[in-house]
Amino acid sequence: MSTLTTAYVHHIEERILERQKELDARLHAAVLAATGEASGAAEVRDMKDAAAEDSDAAFDDAALAQAARERDELAAALRRIRQGSYGDCADCGRPIPVHRLEAMPAAALCAECQGRHEHAASHWRPG
Ligand SMILES: [Zn+2]
Repeated sequence: MSTLTTAYVHHIEERILERQKELDARLHAAVLAATGEASGAAEVRDMKDAAAEDSDAAFDDAALAQAARERDELAAALRRIRQGSYGDCADCGRPIPVHRLEAMPAAALCAECQGRHEHAASHWRPG
C-alpha cells in the first residue's frame, strides 16, 4: 500500500494532466500537419518534405513516437491514481521513492525493477 499522502497524489495528478495537455497539443499538431487539415498545412508539408532529406526528420518521428508513448504512460499513471495503487511498484509492490516520482510522475516501477526490465529488453544475452 502506498505511503503517499492524498495531497501529494493530487499534486502529481495535476502535473500529469498538465503534461498530457502539452503532449496532446504536440501530437494533435503533428497529425494535422500529416493529414493536411490545418490551415497552411501545405506549407508545413512542404517543409516536412524538404526536411525529409535531413536527419532532423527522423528525429522528429522518434520524438513523436516518444510523445505518444509518454502520453500512454501518463494515462496509465492516472488509472493507478484512481485505483489507489499509484506509487507502488507494479512489479515488486514496494513503494516507489518520492524523488523518483518527482522526476518521472508516470513511473510504474521502482528503479530496481525498471533496471531489470531494461536489461531483459536489451539485446544482451544473460550470463
Ligand atoms: Zn519494484
